[in-house]
Amino acid sequence: MMNKKIYERPVLRKVVEGIPNKFGSLKRLRPIEFIDNVSINSLIDKYGSPVFVLSEKTIRETYRSAYRAFSTRYPKVQFAWSYKTNYLDAVCRIFHQEGSWAEVVSGFEYEKALDNGISGNKIIFNGPDKSKKDLIRAIKNNSLIHIDHFDELYTIIELSKELEETPQVAIRINMDTGIIPQWDRFGFNYENGEAWNAVNRILSTGKIELIGLHTHIGTYISTSKAYEIAIRKLAELANKTYERFQTSIEYIDIGGGFASQNTLQGAYLPATDTTPSFDDYAHAITTAMIAEKFPNNIAPTLILETGRALIDDAGWLAGTVLANKRLADGNRAMVIDTGVNLMFTAFWYDHEIYPVKETSFQSEPTTIYGPLCMNIDVIRKKIDFPLLNKGDRFVIKRVGAYTMTQWMQFITYRPNIVLIDENEEVHLIRKEEDKEVFRRQELIPDHLKND
Ligand SMILES: *Cc1c(COP(=O)(O)O)cnc(C)c1O
Repeated sequence: MMNKKIYERPVLRKVVEGIPNKFGSLKRLRPIEFIDNVSINSLIDKYGSPVFVLSEKTIRETYRSAYRAFSTRYPKVQFAWSYKTNYLDAVCRIFHQEGSWAEVVSGFEYEKALDNGISGNKIIFNGPDKSKKDLIRAIKNNSLIHIDHFDELYTIIELSKELEETPQVAIRINMDTGIIPQWDRFGFNYENGEAWNAVNRILSTGKIELIGLHTHIGTYISTSKAYEIAIRKLAELANKTYERFQTSIEYIDIGGGFASQNTLQGAYLPATDTTPSFDDYAHAITTAMIAEKFPNNIAPTLILETGRALIDDAGWLAGTVLANKRLADGNRAMVIDTGVNLMFTAFWYDHEIYPVKETSFQSEPTTIYGPLCMNIDVIRKKIDFPLLNKGDRFVIKRVGAYTMTQWMQFITYRPNIVLIDENEEVHLIRKEEDKEVFRRQELIPDHLKND
């Protein structure tokens, strides 16, 4: 009998080199070997793979260009660093050294801000979850408490009597600025009169000082128009407040939300071409501030809680290729040692990934997977990518915002984080986790002990 050969399905592999595809000529992906003149290979050799790398130079330069954009256009500008965007102590301290206050959204972040040496009256306390204990501490420290809802207001009224202190508060206001979806779950609504109601309740107590009006209209807001609308509405409320109570607010806090240079999935053009610059945002926001008449013709301080746009560019994630494989449909896949556990942001960004050394001229549509045993662990879908081998290294750009706070501890330890200072010296600023970190947290009931 003849041996029948096993059928092997043919696979067409499209390997391209230098010829145009339907998007035009292929651009060869230049490797990135250095961050601030420090070799990425040397960082991985010393600190392991993967490793997060932060550039102090980029943080300071970005902050200074944002501050300059606003302070040259408006007389009183104050930034407050959004802790939840990246609350590594070293990072917060750089922003504080540059003159930034702290913007915190929990008791945990509040404590971190105090530990980072910021005085209570330079802490803006946002968020829907402030415990009674948190509020007492914030009132005693003269912090700027941004009230989120009526129940919080009632607690503050109670505390002001109990403690015989005058809390300094602002209210958070949500509103229609044309941005969809409208964030209406935080603060008091402007259009339905809730915000005005909150102002009336605060000022009719006579025991609470209303010093500011706050809004944070969303995140990754890529049009500056929305901020102009917000300022107009806040100014209207400030004037109405003055007419009734002769109280003039000291500041308008426009929140954060500026887009970074990371491209959103599905965007037609790269964000580097479409994201407004700090100058664009500053022009729109300060023009609106100057156009409005505020009580007594006194310009309120403009507070900005920008997070993402100040730190995204300063963060890098370097790692190693674990394997290459073919998927059932013949497409190429590459498995790397950093997954969505470290880059939650891969769910909505097309993160830019580069080889660390010169590679072959060939590239092929490649899906890049992380190392987690989860189907959703995809870093990039079908991008033209050079053929890296197992053990080759790569680096991912713009991972400074939200990665190091929203990361997941899932089946592995979180890696080292290093900071390259302005003299190009490398500092370990967060140690890789090890089993002791977890052992310390867990307790074993007697009946489950071995001895
Ligand atoms: C998260 C947050 C910010 C920072 O937002 P970005 O989009 O990172 O600029 C600012 N203010 C408040 C109240 C926030 O919750």
